[in-house]
Amino acid sequence: MADTAVTMEKIVNLSKRRGFVFPSSEIYGGLGSCWDYGPLGVELKRNVKAAWWRDTVTSRPDIVGLDASILMHPDVWVASGHVSNFTDPMVDCKLCKGRFRADKLEDSVCPKKPSKQPGQCDGELTEARNFNLMFKTHMGPVEDSGASVYLRPETAQGIFVNFVNVVNSARMKPPFGIAQQGKSFRNEITPGNFLFRTREFEQMELEFFVKPGEDDAWYIYWRDRRLAWYKAYGIRAERLRLRDHGGDELAHYAKGCADVEYEFPIGWQELEGIANRTDFDLKAHINQSGKDLSFFDADSKERYVPYVIEPSAGADRSTLAFLVDAYDEDGPEDDRRVVLRFHPSLAPIKVAVLPLMRKGGLPEKAQEIVEMLRPHAAVSYDQAGSIGRRYRRQDEIGTPFGITVDYETLEDDTVTLRDRDSMEQKRVAISELVDIITKAIAPPSLAAGLAP
Ligand code: ATP
Repeated sequence: MADTAVTMEKIVNLSKRRGFVFPSSEIYGGLGSCWDYGPLGVELKRNVKAAWWRDTVTSRPDIVGLDASILMHPDVWVASGHVSNFTDPMVDCKLCKGRFRADKLEDSVCPKKPSKQPGQCDGELTEARNFNLMFKTHMGPVEDSGASVYLRPETAQGIFVNFVNVVNSARMKPPFGIAQQGKSFRNEITPGNFLFRTREFEQMELEFFVKPGEDDAWYIYWRDRRLAWYKAYGIRAERLRLRDHGGDELAHYAKGCADVEYEFPIGWQELEGIANRTDFDLKAHINQSGKDLSFFDADSKERYVPYVIEPSAGADRSTLAFLVDAYDEDGPEDDRRVVLRFHPSLAPIKVAVLPLMRKGGLPEKAQEIVEMLRPHAAVSYDQAGSIGRRYRRQDEIGTPFGITVDYETLEDDTVTLRDRDSMEQKRVAISELVDIITKAIAPPSLAAGLAP
């Protein structure tokens, strides 16, 4: 019997074949661990980011957005500790000269003997050395050290340095949050597993500022709410878990940290970290910049440096999780179908309009329906091949609805509406389509409320 389980290889192949994700610079042989989102992938990732933005920012009164620059003053990274501490331990193989992360050897393979992990082959590994993961470049035409800047390794610092700007301009007071999505760069020693670990990636980060003493309750709130977010958008509960960091894993400044983990085909891995970072970040910038980043509560006449709860997620890693989780194969062995069961609000294309025949006025009628739906949902039109094959093509990219236009349509303005998951078909009036589809593709609402 053919194996229907999802594998990373199946996801990579489907992504390339159907235009979700391509290897970067492929005509030049590709560039290690860099990927380009194709026409469907870009829609999927935008939908994931929009879902996060909606639930984190626009649906709430207490969180505002920010879009800080990638290049920041070099002192930011001194204050944050990235210049001195943002390192991973690295080992070299004396035989093959390969470089590996010393703390993730079990995830690496020997380039000469792929069935073995580094160090368990014939090669001897060097002592571990610390390797700074920040990409360094220089600003302006002079290449001296004074002009050195870094590509940001996280988006969070752009939020901390703008804390006072946001408080003053948006008149926010704790508890409140600042959210940001954007590119981050890390010169990972061993990137890999497709979109899971890359050197250029997008983060979705929230810094939620609270009065000291209220931090524990908000920390629990954000752990639960972020887990609920992945479930609400359709990720199977049994493939999700929250894992609390043990004392030895916890950063010295953090009071608590938990990872939302997903069971990828490569095993349980982090999707997102939620941390109680105390007042570490704001105090670090107070010390480095000499500026006052405390908050004065005009009602209680108290001045304090807020504590920060940080849910920090990866847009690409989440997109990969949604892709992997949606993947399914069903049907009898001789008529297997591949279907991506995306939550309809995340699906790149919501509805495909398919004329039964390429004649008799059916394509023209189908095009009218396409134009009617276009303002409401991402819609595609396909008239090539048998209707069965066209359905399968849409199943494989996760389109929740198929609309078939036939001769009956010309007589009574009804169409066949096919459901991707159940494959059920029913006859509906064209006039009902917008209503049915907009309801079905609406985003879910999260069960958790707006406060602890
Ligand atoms: P890891 O232990 O996997 O290196 P991390 O704990 O260093 O991750 P954070 O610094 O907490 O990661 O970053 C927050 C989120 O950003 C991660 O949960 C992940 O979703 C995403 N992320 C971090 N590094 C990468 C990367 N190299 N490629 C893709 N996404 C990443």
